[in-house]
Amino acid sequence: MTNVTLITGDGIGPEIAEAARRCIDATGANINWEIAEAGVDVMARLGTPLPDATIESVKKNGVALKAPITTPVGTGFRSINVYLRQNLDLYVCLRPCKSYKGVRSRYEDIDLVIVRENTEDLYAGIEYQKGQDDTLELIDWLNKHSKKKIGPDAGVSIKPISVTATERIVRYAFDYARKNGRKKVTSVHKANIMKFSDGLWLEVSREVAKKYPDIEFEDRIVDNMCMQLVQKPELYDVLVLPNLYGDIVSDLCAGLIGGLGVAPGANIGDKGATFEATHGSAPKYKGQNKVNPTALILSGVLMLRHLGKTSEADRLEKAVAETIAEGRKVTYDMKDNRDDPTAVGTSEMADEIIRKIRSSKS
Ligand code: NAD
Repeated sequence: MTNVTLITGDGIGPEIAEAARRCIDATGANINWEIAEAGVDVMARLGTPLPDATIESVKKNGVALKAPITTPVGTGFRSINVYLRQNLDLYVCLRPCKSYKGVRSRYEDIDLVIVRENTEDLYAGIEYQKGQDDTLELIDWLNKHSKKKIGPDAGVSIKPISVTATERIVRYAFDYARKNGRKKVTSVHKANIMKFSDGLWLEVSREVAKKYPDIEFEDRIVDNMCMQLVQKPELYDVLVLPNLYGDIVSDLCAGLIGGLGVAPGANIGDKGATFEATHGSAPKYKGQNKVNPTALILSGVLMLRHLGKTSEADRLEKAVAETIAEGRKVTYDMKDNRDDPTAVGTSEMADEIIRKIRSSKS
């Protein structure tokens, strides 16, 4: 038995978590699920959206499948997602973007992998609010030490990019490429403008690339990368990006494969990993057994691969792909017409995937 924490989340979280759990169990992966709560529902009861027991469970098991969680607005609580990433040092955000036949999209045959750095950059949370004493002090210091002047009415966000964090994420991208039979890594940056942050990123990327002569390496400036992805996505394979560009480009790539409903993701570190859909908790659909469970189920496929349960992962992915390709027992968002009365609910789509897993075994 492998222990895995299942964070059921809030909004549509519990429904898709249940669907994903049932599909994963049907593969015979032999998972012992430790159910853990997080989100706005538990906050109402326990006064915190992230109970200690949940954090402890993830730390103990090292692997969690996580349903979406609403980020409470104006309560003083930080995003639970950001907290887990930072607390467990999950420095990789992995987002494979792959076309499945039957998903409505303008593109076919997309097979890209986004490796996003998860800890630094403008996302590091080092921010100075306009007009505060420390902000004015910082602006004063910067004005003394730079030829460029910042006005006293500016807010300031800091963009740290370090050798250590860049090295480990670029190494991860190359190791991933090697392990998964990928041919090329593209490092994305804006080094022509931000010489000391993105410039450092590019320099370190080039150094790391020298240690992987079997994998092709190239770099792209982020704006050009976006245009290239829209025009010629087939030219790319594994992309490695600093945090902010990674955030934007992974949504662009989710768009290429038909949207957030089918985009899985993982946050990975040396001490643990959480697997989660790219989409959020869609509170307006809560409790309606309506939304698409695919993104969380495909996150489960990533989790099974991470756990070395390759044949279970392959079976699950095949069953999902077949269900989508047939297009019969799928949720409303996968039908040509969103009002199609033949659309099924979340749990019925999971039932169909399970039926296919079982028939592929027998
Ligand atoms: P969202 O992804 O929850 O929903 C946006 C819209 O996308 C929905 O209204 C729905 O039309 C569609 N959608 C999303 N998931 C779907 C699914 N599985 N099947 C069918 N349609 C789906 O984005 P939002 O409304 O901006 O965010 C809601 C909450 O979720 C916010 O509090 C946000 O902070 C949080 N969030 C959490 C995570 C996470 O837990 N990892 C990620 C993103 C957003």
